[in-house]
Amino acid sequence: FKMLDLPKKSNDELYQMGETFNEMMGQLESNYEKQEQFVSNASHELKTPLTVIESYASLLKRRGMEQPELFHESVDAIHSEAIRMRELTEQLLNLARNDQQWSLNKEDISLADLVKASVRSFTNAFNREIELTIDHNPVIHTDGQKLKQLLYIFLDNARKYSEDKIMVSIKQVDESAVVAITDKGIGIPAADLPKVFNRLYRVDKARTRKSGGFGLGLSLAKEIADAIDANIKLESIEGLGTTATISFGLVKSH
Ligand code: ADP
Repeated sequence: FKMLDLPKKSNDELYQMGETFNEMMGQLESNYEKQEQFVSNASHELKTPLTVIESYASLLKRRGMEQPELFHESVDAIHSEAIRMRELTEQLLNLARNDQQWSLNKEDISLADLVKASVRSFTNAFNREIELTIDHNPVIHTDGQKLKQLLYIFLDNARKYSEDKIMVSIKQVDESAVVAITDKGIGIPAADLPKVFNRLYRVDKARTRKSGGFGLGLSLAKEIADAIDANIKLESIEGLGTTATISFGLVKSH
């Protein structure tokens, strides 16, 4: 990227345009760096399971026939690493798809009905208790599928990082409808909180590797929220739990 060399003193329009141009180039450059970092992190994430698969496969070739326990261990490892790779590629594809097409399908939706349906299917899929409190039921003009995707990301994190009951509520706060998803889990350290929306950011890689997270959920959540004009926020206290909120302005939602 090449910056413009601006004449020192002039402060006319041309100078200002040049300055704006330089600002834009700076922005582009930092986006480009982020993109590069993302590609390199993603490749690394894919390489790790591939290396495990490769070494177990070669072990199987050499000694798999003679040693049945080795055979089972290798097949199990290959199987679980392959699942992990499939999940990661699925999530990456999901992100790429979302980057390209943000065609929205907005309709009038009963917020309570949508949240109820999402909670029901989540409970069925994961067999986790969710307590739902509905104090407010506005009709919202938004993309229902995308909102479900958003809810799912927060519910899934609550499930992964806590063991107790998950709480979901819909309330009116000032001029907004607010859906809150609260867990009493491990929480997020204050220093990490501003970074968890970055792509591939995880608080503790060793800890999350077991539960299967790649650090992509919240970055996707941010993009979805921007697209459907929702505000999302995470509040968390390490060791006590986390509350994620999704809010919609009630006045200007049409
Ligand atoms: P992941 O797929 O790893 O969960 P996310 O982008 O959804 O990725 O979240 C980024 C990181 O933020 C997670 O790795 C986890 O460390 C932290 N995190 C997100 N939600 C919660 C939560 N409800 N409780 C504790 N930690 C969380």
